[in-house]
Amino acid sequence: MRVLARFLTAVSDAAQFPAPTLPEVAFLGRSNVGKSSVINSLIGKKLAHTSSTPGRTRNINFFEIRWPGKPRPELIFADLPGYGYAKVSREISQEWPSFIEPYLKLRPTLALCVALVDVNIPPQASDEQLLDFLNALGREFVLVATKSDRLSNNPLQNALRGLTERYSAARVIPFSAKTGKGCDELWERIRQTAQAFADSPVSATDRVG
Ligand code: GDP
Repeated sequence: MRVLARFLTAVSDAAQFPAPTLPEVAFLGRSNVGKSSVINSLIGKKLAHTSSTPGRTRNINFFEIRWPGKPRPELIFADLPGYGYAKVSREISQEWPSFIEPYLKLRPTLALCVALVDVNIPPQASDEQLLDFLNALGREFVLVATKSDRLSNNPLQNALRGLTERYSAARVIPFSAKTGKGCDELWERIRQTAQAFADSPVSATDRVG
């Protein structure tokens, strides 16, 4: 699907989040999981790039998404900093409490978390930590199994089954930025959630509460 995407702002402090107006989709995953590639596939151009410099203050990057022919943006993509670059616990203890955790806990317009896992490697403690955290918050999330083109059919099916068993509540979408696999399915999920969110009169703060 072709959409129009525009960079909005980069934020490294909870006080700077843009006003919560449109339904928001957050992208989360370990560094190098293929997050930028997933976002770029979805929007059909190179827009997202994450810093791989460890130790530097990193941002949540916000993008406005507009459907062609529509006058106003309808959705926000939030690209969160990759975690697990070095020592998970250190990064999580330094960065998460200051603005990532408040974002995930309190953002009233956060409609869907897209949690990315590399389907080529065994389950990682940092991924489990994130998914357990999202579960505990009651956040809606979809699991995207990245780089699925690197596995042949049988190992891929086994890996996907493993993810489904571990996270029974989550829908798992095999994805490849290289072949485009999973792109339509992920868009479908994003659109459904954004629509349901926009239609609902209940504030998201109540949902998360
Ligand atoms: P990020 O750090 O999570 O934003 O990851 P990137 O999107 O920069 O990707 C990290 C590396 O994985 C790069 O070398 C990409 O070329 C590679 N990569 C990303 N997505 C895919 C994919 O779907 N298939 C394959 N084969 N490689 C991928």
